[in-house]
Amino acid sequence: MVIKNKSKIYIIDTSAILSGIPINFNDTLMVTTSSIEMELKPGGRDYRTFQFLREKGLSLLSPSKKSKEKVNSISIKTGDIDRLSNVDIDVLALALDINLNDQKKAIILSDDYSMQNVADTLNITFENIGQPKITKRFKWGCRCLGCRKKFNENIKICPICGTATRNIISNREDIKKRK
Ligand SMILES: [Zn+2]
Repeated sequence: MVIKNKSKIYIIDTSAILSGIPINFNDTLMVTTSSIEMELKPGGRDYRTFQFLREKGLSLLSPSKKSKEKVNSISIKTGDIDRLSNVDIDVLALALDINLNDQKKAIILSDDYSMQNVADTLNITFENIGQPKITKRFKWGCRCLGCRKKFNENIKICPICGTATRNIISNREDIKKRK
């Protein structure tokens, strides 16, 4: 079976904008969520970078409610939910929306490890900007600082001894090779 090349759509997150590196727009479609403006202080350097990208053709889109709910429930399972901003969740949900169109392929550009972790869990392709990409998919859990018991879920207070817990990585697996 011949699979036609899908048109790639790059979705950038706040970390991509903050990286300040020039993003090559030739032949690439670049989008982000409309909510990203709220994470950037108007008038600041990052906002100017954002405006520059807008002038270069960066489009703003809003994700569907259904995809946002899916991202939410998956990131609760992986334990990344507390590490993701509303914008991060929107970026991931936008990728799900775009991938529903079988002519298109979403690629998230982000240096954020929790974003990459959730993206991988949702079969979303991601690329890093500055830092090395994650090579293991991980699941956050926590460990009680008192009785040292480990939990797979993210709980703040140990149900056994009542001490606060701290986050640990409870599980890792290799990132699958994807085309
Ligand atoms: Zn405990």
